[in-house]
Amino acid sequence: MSEGTARTAELAERLAAVKQRIESATAEAGRGDELPTLIVVTKFHPATDIRLLAALGVRDVGENRDQEASSKAAELAGLGLNWHFVGQLQSKKAKSVAKYAHAVHSIDRPGLVEGLERAIAAEQERTGRGALQCFIQVSLDDDAGTHRGGAAPDEVPPLADRLAAADGLELAGVMAVAPLGVPPEAAFEKLAAISASLVAVHPSATAISAGMSQDLEAAIRFGATHLRIGSDILGSRPAVG
Ligand SMILES: *Cc1c(COP(=O)(O)O)cnc(C)c1O
Repeated sequence: MSEGTARTAELAERLAAVKQRIESATAEAGRGDELPTLIVVTKFHPATDIRLLAALGVRDVGENRDQEASSKAAELAGLGLNWHFVGQLQSKKAKSVAKYAHAVHSIDRPGLVEGLERAIAAEQERTGRGALQCFIQVSLDDDAGTHRGGAAPDEVPPLADRLAAADGLELAGVMAVAPLGVPPEAAFEKLAAISASLVAVHPSATAISAGMSQDLEAAIRFGATHLRIGSDILGSRPAVG
């Protein structure tokens, strides 16, 4: 077997196992066959893996660093993938992200909304691209020591209003990473409550981006609509250089 064939077989098997877990958890949660969107987080893995995943039917991929994401997106432009930006984002990177991203999951402050609004407007003028799907990342940590990014819960309503008023940006919903060292259920339950308050004011902002390799079942139980799965599909990430 060639190297590419072996990797395809490995990715196919891991992808099928994750899809099986998603289907079981969705059925167990009584959500019928309303499957959440699977975003395969490909950070640190090569573009060749993403090409193989696309051939296996993957449509949504996630990245967390602009430099890596922009070069992969340029190389794989012909595949028609949706690129989801899931990492901390500096405002000065907004212009670059606007060129390839379908969604940004890590919006945590008004300054970033302003940067993205300007960048998307310029990009829409240039290419006619669609609106950017925007998720507000919420911090579910009380303890700053284990902080994994995001706006505090009380910062969500004003940020949502700002996003909803922005041209070219579409308020999709909320995103969170479960804090380390506590059961994910408590975190995702809190996120579901924050989502419900958001939807009460912005009825179309129903998306909940939650759930990674370790906790996707818990996230589905608490209403996740978008899952961000990396290592259980691609294997452990190569060491960062
Ligand atoms: C890396 C990453 C993921 C994927 O995590 P796995 O544990 O590898 O599934 C999901 N969300 C964010 C924000 C990430 O940075």
